[in-house]
Amino acid sequence: MLSYLLKTAKAHHINLYFTDDLPKHISAFADQKSQSIVINNTLANCGATYYKIAHEIGHLITDNHPVNYKLRYNQLKNEQIAHQLALNLLLPFYLSQKTPEDVNLHQLMRYFDIPTSLTGTVSKFVTNYFTLTAN
Ligand SMILES: [Zn+2]
Repeated sequence: MLSYLLKTAKAHHINLYFTDDLPKHISAFADQKSQSIVINNTLANCGATYYKIAHEIGHLITDNHPVNYKLRYNQLKNEQIAHQLALNLLLPFYLSQKTPEDVNLHQLMRYFDIPTSLTGTVSKFVTNYFTLTAN
């Protein structure tokens, strides 16, 4: 899954760097100016880090095109868009290796460490995914 994220980042001209020097509680962070994402190497192969990377890719792609609303509204909106993009990136990859019976929503949320406020969105995504691929 990591190599898939690397490819996606490259396609959007985003640089990914791996380092061993980040504290444990930081899995990855993005730098808008240099269009880079720095990844904690010791946590690189973990679902929560995949989600964080996908989320930061979402920020780097979308935050460059700010909308002219109030700042606070913008931040919330950007956050939502980054989450949506992260789900769009990761879930099809994850779900393609599963059958509908295999998928446990709470397990999925925990694996990627997805905020619980997105449970409804993820649930819909999973349902739609299997409805579409069944036909
Ligand atoms: Zn964010």
